[in-house]
Amino acid sequence: MTKPVFRFAPSPNGRLHLGHAYSALLNADFARRFRGRFLLRIEDIDITRCRPAFEAAIYDDLAWLGLTWEAPVRRQSEHFADYHAAFLRLKGRGVVYPCFCTRKDITETIACREAETGRDWPRDPDCAPLYPGICRGMPVDEAGRRIAAGEPHAWRLDMAALEKLAPGPHRFRTFDREGREGIVTAHPRRWGDAVVVRKETPTSYHLSVVVDDALQGVTHVVRGQDLEAATDLHVLLQALLDLPTPRYHHHGLVLDPMGDKLAKSRRSQSLAELRAEGATPQAVWRRLGFDPQPTPRT
Ligand code: GLU
Repeated sequence: MTKPVFRFAPSPNGRLHLGHAYSALLNADFARRFRGRFLLRIEDIDITRCRPAFEAAIYDDLAWLGLTWEAPVRRQSEHFADYHAAFLRLKGRGVVYPCFCTRKDITETIACREAETGRDWPRDPDCAPLYPGICRGMPVDEAGRRIAAGEPHAWRLDMAALEKLAPGPHRFRTFDREGREGIVTAHPRRWGDAVVVRKETPTSYHLSVVVDDALQGVTHVVRGQDLEAATDLHVLLQALLDLPTPRYHHHGLVLDPMGDKLAKSRRSQSLAELRAEGATPQAVWRRLGFDPQPTPRT
Protein backbone atom coordinates (compact mmCIF):
# COMPACT_ATOMS: atom_id res chain seq x y z
CA MET A 1 0.00 0.00 0.00
CA THR A 2 1.29 3.48 -0.79
CA LYS A 3 2.12 5.62 2.18
CA PRO A 4 -0.02 8.62 3.09
CA VAL A 5 1.68 11.88 2.13
CA PHE A 6 1.45 15.05 4.23
CA ARG A 7 2.94 18.45 3.52
CA PHE A 8 3.61 21.73 5.27
CA ALA A 9 3.54 24.56 2.75
CA PRO A 10 4.66 27.92 4.15
CA SER A 11 5.23 31.09 2.15
CA PRO A 12 8.62 32.73 2.74
CA ASN A 13 7.22 36.24 3.13
CA GLY A 14 8.04 36.66 6.82
CA ARG A 15 9.27 34.74 9.85
CA LEU A 16 7.29 31.73 11.04
CA HIS A 17 5.15 32.21 14.16
CA LEU A 18 3.51 29.78 16.57
CA GLY A 19 0.62 29.22 14.17
CA HIS A 20 3.01 27.90 11.54
CA ALA A 21 4.80 25.82 14.16
CA TYR A 22 1.46 24.26 15.14
CA SER A 23 0.61 23.43 11.53
CA ALA A 24 4.06 21.95 10.87
CA LEU A 25 4.05 19.90 14.09
CA LEU A 26 0.52 18.68 13.43
CA ASN A 27 1.43 17.56 9.90
CA ALA A 28 4.52 15.76 11.21
CA ASP A 29 2.46 14.21 14.02
CA PHE A 30 -0.14 12.91 11.55
CA ALA A 31 2.63 11.59 9.29
CA ARG A 32 4.11 9.73 12.26
CA ARG A 33 0.76 8.28 13.40
CA PHE A 34 -0.26 7.29 9.86
CA ARG A 35 3.26 5.98 9.07
CA GLY A 36 3.28 8.42 6.20
CA ARG A 37 5.72 10.80 4.53
CA PHE A 38 6.20 14.44 5.49
CA LEU A 39 7.06 16.96 2.78
CA LEU A 40 7.92 20.62 2.96
CA ARG A 41 6.88 22.89 0.11
CA ILE A 42 7.95 26.49 -0.27
CA GLU A 43 5.07 28.55 -1.68
CA ASP A 44 6.97 31.44 -3.19
CA ILE A 45 4.96 32.39 -6.28
CA ASP A 46 4.65 35.95 -4.98
CA ILE A 47 8.13 36.97 -5.97
CA THR A 48 7.61 40.55 -4.77
CA ARG A 49 7.00 39.49 -1.15
CA CYS A 50 9.03 36.29 -0.82
CA ARG A 51 12.69 36.53 0.24
CA PRO A 52 15.50 33.93 0.21
CA ALA A 53 16.35 34.96 3.78
CA PHE A 54 12.83 34.02 4.94
CA GLU A 55 13.13 30.68 3.15
CA ALA A 56 16.43 29.99 4.89
CA ALA A 57 14.78 30.94 8.19
CA ILE A 58 11.96 28.44 7.56
CA TYR A 59 14.49 25.57 7.29
CA ASP A 60 16.29 26.84 10.35
CA ASP A 61 13.14 27.22 12.49
CA LEU A 62 11.72 23.84 11.49
CA ALA A 63 15.03 22.07 12.11
CA TRP A 64 15.24 23.83 15.50
CA LEU A 65 11.78 22.43 16.28
CA GLY A 66 13.23 18.98 15.59
CA LEU A 67 11.39 18.31 12.32
CA THR A 68 12.85 16.48 9.36
CA TRP A 69 11.41 16.41 5.87
CA GLU A 70 12.15 14.81 2.54
CA ALA A 71 14.53 16.31 0.02
CA PRO A 72 14.32 17.89 -2.45
CA VAL A 73 11.95 20.59 -1.21
CA ARG A 74 9.58 21.75 -3.94
CA ARG A 75 9.85 25.48 -4.51
CA GLN A 76 6.88 26.80 -6.44
CA SER A 77 8.87 29.55 -8.15
CA GLU A 78 10.75 26.80 -10.03
CA HIS A 79 7.58 25.28 -11.46
CA PHE A 80 5.67 28.01 -13.27
CA ALA A 81 5.64 25.76 -16.36
CA ASP A 82 3.53 23.17 -14.48
CA TYR A 83 1.00 25.83 -13.45
CA HIS A 84 0.91 27.19 -16.99
CA ALA A 85 0.16 23.72 -18.35
CA ALA A 86 -2.74 23.43 -15.89
CA PHE A 87 -3.99 26.87 -16.91
CA LEU A 88 -3.92 25.82 -20.58
CA ARG A 89 -6.08 22.82 -19.71
CA LEU A 90 -8.61 25.11 -18.03
CA LYS A 91 -8.49 27.44 -21.01
CA GLY A 92 -8.96 24.48 -23.36
CA ARG A 93 -12.08 23.54 -21.43
CA GLY A 94 -13.46 27.05 -21.88
CA VAL A 95 -13.89 27.67 -18.15
CA VAL A 96 -11.68 30.76 -17.79
CA TYR A 97 -11.76 34.22 -19.32
CA PRO A 98 -9.27 37.09 -19.33
CA CYS A 99 -9.98 40.05 -17.06
CA PHE A 100 -8.38 43.41 -17.75
CA CYS A 101 -9.98 45.24 -14.82
CA THR A 102 -7.99 47.32 -12.40
CA ARG A 103 -8.95 47.36 -8.74
CA LYS A 104 -10.45 50.80 -9.38
CA ASP A 105 -12.66 49.48 -12.22
CA ILE A 106 -14.02 46.82 -9.90
CA THR A 107 -14.56 49.13 -6.92
CA GLU A 108 -16.33 51.74 -9.04
CA THR A 109 -18.62 49.22 -10.71
CA ILE A 110 -19.58 47.74 -7.35
CA ALA A 111 -20.21 51.21 -5.88
CA CYS A 112 -22.53 51.98 -8.84
CA ARG A 113 -24.43 48.72 -8.45
CA GLU A 114 -24.79 49.26 -4.71
CA ALA A 115 -26.12 52.77 -5.35
CA GLU A 116 -28.57 51.46 -7.97
CA THR A 117 -29.91 48.61 -5.88
CA GLY A 118 -29.52 50.06 -2.39
CA ARG A 119 -28.08 46.71 -1.33
CA ASP A 120 -24.62 45.62 -0.21
CA TRP A 121 -22.68 43.81 -2.91
CA PRO A 122 -22.08 40.11 -2.04
CA ARG A 123 -18.69 39.10 -0.68
CA ASP A 124 -16.57 35.95 -0.86
CA PRO A 125 -15.51 33.94 2.23
CA ASP A 126 -12.44 36.20 2.59
CA CYS A 127 -14.80 39.20 2.69
CA ALA A 128 -13.64 40.53 -0.68
CA PRO A 129 -16.49 41.70 -2.93
CA LEU A 130 -17.38 39.19 -5.65
CA TYR A 131 -16.15 40.15 -9.10
CA PRO A 132 -19.02 41.98 -10.83
CA GLY A 133 -18.43 40.24 -14.17
CA ILE A 134 -17.23 43.26 -16.16
CA CYS A 135 -15.01 41.24 -18.55
CA ARG A 136 -17.18 38.12 -18.61
CA GLY A 137 -18.70 37.75 -22.04
CA MET A 138 -16.15 40.03 -23.73
CA PRO A 139 -16.01 39.13 -27.45
CA VAL A 140 -13.13 36.72 -28.10
CA ASP A 141 -11.59 38.94 -30.79
CA GLU A 142 -11.59 41.97 -28.49
CA ALA A 143 -9.95 39.96 -25.70
CA GLY A 144 -7.42 38.54 -28.17
CA ARG A 145 -6.56 42.02 -29.46
CA ARG A 146 -6.03 43.38 -25.96
CA ILE A 147 -3.86 40.42 -24.98
CA ALA A 148 -1.83 40.75 -28.18
CA ALA A 149 -1.34 44.45 -27.40
CA GLY A 150 0.23 43.44 -24.08
CA GLU A 151 -2.54 44.73 -21.84
CA PRO A 152 -2.09 43.35 -18.32
CA HIS A 153 -4.75 40.80 -17.48
CA ALA A 154 -5.70 38.09 -15.03
CA TRP A 155 -7.69 34.93 -15.81
CA ARG A 156 -10.89 34.18 -13.92
CA LEU A 157 -13.03 31.09 -13.56
CA ASP A 158 -16.35 31.47 -15.33
CA MET A 159 -18.63 30.18 -12.59
CA ALA A 160 -21.75 30.52 -14.71
CA ALA A 161 -20.22 28.29 -17.42
CA LEU A 162 -19.08 25.87 -14.73
CA GLU A 163 -22.60 25.54 -13.45
CA LYS A 164 -23.32 23.57 -16.63
CA LEU A 165 -19.91 21.99 -17.27
CA ALA A 166 -19.13 20.83 -13.74
CA PRO A 167 -22.37 21.19 -11.80
CA GLY A 168 -21.24 19.00 -8.94
CA PRO A 169 -22.04 18.40 -6.20
CA HIS A 170 -18.34 18.64 -5.36
CA ARG A 171 -17.35 16.83 -2.22
CA PHE A 172 -14.24 16.17 -0.20
CA ARG A 173 -13.33 13.85 2.64
CA THR A 174 -12.17 15.08 6.02
CA PHE A 175 -10.27 13.42 8.85
CA ASP A 176 -9.18 14.39 12.34
CA ARG A 177 -6.84 13.36 15.14
CA GLU A 178 -9.51 11.23 16.79
CA GLY A 179 -9.80 9.09 13.66
CA ARG A 180 -13.16 10.53 12.64
CA GLU A 181 -13.83 10.86 8.94
CA GLY A 182 -16.43 12.95 7.17
CA ILE A 183 -17.66 14.12 3.81
CA VAL A 184 -18.19 17.80 3.13
CA THR A 185 -20.03 19.34 0.22
CA ALA A 186 -18.06 22.18 -1.35
CA HIS A 187 -19.72 25.39 -2.53
CA PRO A 188 -17.22 26.93 -4.96
CA ARG A 189 -19.76 29.41 -6.33
CA ARG A 190 -19.48 31.46 -3.17
CA TRP A 191 -16.08 32.61 -4.51
CA GLY A 192 -17.63 34.10 -7.63
CA ASP A 193 -15.38 34.33 -10.70
CA ALA A 194 -12.17 33.68 -8.74
CA VAL A 195 -8.79 34.54 -10.21
CA VAL A 196 -6.78 31.47 -11.22
CA VAL A 197 -3.95 33.33 -12.94
CA ARG A 198 -3.02 36.66 -11.44
CA LYS A 199 -2.02 39.74 -13.38
CA GLU A 200 1.41 39.98 -11.83
CA THR A 201 2.20 36.24 -11.49
CA PRO A 202 1.56 33.53 -14.09
CA THR A 203 -0.45 31.49 -11.57
CA SER A 204 -2.34 31.90 -8.28
CA TYR A 205 -2.29 30.28 -4.85
CA HIS A 206 -5.34 28.17 -5.76
CA LEU A 207 -3.98 26.83 -9.03
CA SER A 208 -0.45 26.09 -7.77
CA VAL A 209 -1.59 24.39 -4.59
CA VAL A 210 -3.88 22.04 -6.49
CA VAL A 211 -1.25 21.22 -9.12
CA ASP A 212 1.47 20.65 -6.52
CA ASP A 213 -0.62 18.54 -4.17
CA ALA A 214 -1.35 16.25 -7.12
CA LEU A 215 2.20 16.23 -8.50
CA GLN A 216 3.62 15.48 -5.08
CA GLY A 217 1.08 12.75 -4.43
CA VAL A 218 -0.25 14.51 -1.32
CA THR A 219 -3.03 12.36 0.12
CA HIS A 220 -3.75 14.32 3.32
CA VAL A 221 -3.82 18.12 3.54
CA VAL A 222 -3.52 19.53 7.05
CA ARG A 223 -3.82 23.31 7.20
CA GLY A 224 -5.49 26.08 9.14
CA GLN A 225 -9.21 26.79 9.29
CA ASP A 226 -8.53 30.09 7.57
CA LEU A 227 -8.07 28.06 4.36
CA GLU A 228 -11.14 25.87 4.82
CA ALA A 229 -13.32 27.85 2.43
CA ALA A 230 -10.55 27.84 -0.20
CA THR A 231 -10.87 24.04 -0.30
CA ASP A 232 -14.18 24.53 -2.13
CA LEU A 233 -12.29 26.10 -5.02
CA HIS A 234 -9.53 23.53 -4.84
CA VAL A 235 -12.00 20.67 -5.14
CA LEU A 236 -13.55 22.34 -8.19
CA LEU A 237 -10.14 22.84 -9.82
CA GLN A 238 -9.23 19.21 -9.10
CA ALA A 239 -12.41 18.09 -10.87
CA LEU A 240 -11.69 20.35 -13.86
CA LEU A 241 -8.08 19.20 -14.12
CA ASP A 242 -8.84 15.51 -13.50
CA LEU A 243 -6.68 15.51 -10.38
CA PRO A 244 -7.31 13.43 -7.27
CA THR A 245 -8.81 15.18 -4.25
CA PRO A 246 -6.79 14.62 -1.07
CA ARG A 247 -8.43 14.29 2.34
CA TYR A 248 -8.48 17.47 4.38
CA HIS A 249 -8.09 18.45 8.00
CA HIS A 250 -8.53 22.15 8.78
CA HIS A 251 -7.13 22.79 12.20
CA GLY A 252 -8.04 25.49 14.70
CA LEU A 253 -5.85 28.57 14.65
CA VAL A 254 -3.41 29.58 17.34
CA LEU A 255 -4.67 32.90 18.71
CA ASP A 256 -2.85 35.71 20.44
CA PRO A 257 -3.85 36.79 23.98
CA MET A 258 -6.40 39.21 22.44
CA GLY A 259 -8.07 36.28 20.64
CA ASP A 260 -6.82 37.41 17.22
CA LYS A 261 -5.30 35.14 14.60
CA LEU A 262 -1.50 35.26 14.53
CA ALA A 263 -0.22 36.91 11.38
CA LYS A 264 3.03 38.14 9.95
CA SER A 265 1.21 41.36 9.02
CA ARG A 266 0.16 41.82 12.67
CA ARG A 267 3.75 41.42 13.80
CA SER A 268 2.86 38.39 15.88
CA GLN A 269 5.77 37.08 17.90
CA SER A 270 7.95 34.93 15.65
CA LEU A 271 9.60 31.64 16.54
CA ALA A 272 12.90 33.48 16.11
CA GLU A 273 11.90 35.93 18.85
CA LEU A 274 10.78 33.10 21.12
CA ARG A 275 14.10 31.40 20.52
CA ALA A 276 15.97 34.61 21.29
CA GLU A 277 14.06 34.85 24.57
CA GLY A 278 15.39 31.41 25.49
CA ALA A 279 12.38 29.20 24.63
CA THR A 280 13.30 25.57 23.99
CA PRO A 281 11.80 23.46 21.20
CA GLN A 282 10.30 21.20 23.88
CA ALA A 283 8.56 24.19 25.47
CA VAL A 284 7.09 25.16 22.08
CA TRP A 285 5.87 21.60 21.49
CA ARG A 286 4.21 21.51 24.92
CA ARG A 287 2.73 25.00 24.55
CA LEU A 288 1.11 23.83 21.30
CA GLY A 289 -0.25 20.65 22.86
CA PHE A 290 2.26 18.08 21.58
CA ASP A 291 4.37 15.63 23.56
CA PRO A 292 7.95 16.42 22.70
CA GLN A 293 9.34 13.44 20.84
CA PRO A 294 11.63 13.02 17.90
CA THR A 295 9.86 12.61 14.57
CA PRO A 296 11.39 9.60 12.86
CA ARG A 297 12.95 10.08 9.47
CA THR A 298 10.73 8.71 6.71
N1 GLU B 1 1.14 28.80 1.67
C1 GLU B 1 -0.05 28.87 2.46
C2 GLU B 1 0.22 29.71 3.70
O1 GLU B 1 1.37 29.91 4.06
C3 GLU B 1 -0.54 27.52 2.90
C4 GLU B 1 -1.14 26.78 1.79
C5 GLU B 1 -1.75 25.44 2.10
O2 GLU B 1 -1.42 24.81 3.13
O3 GLU B 1 -2.54 24.99 1.31
O4 GLU B 1 -0.73 30.15 4.30
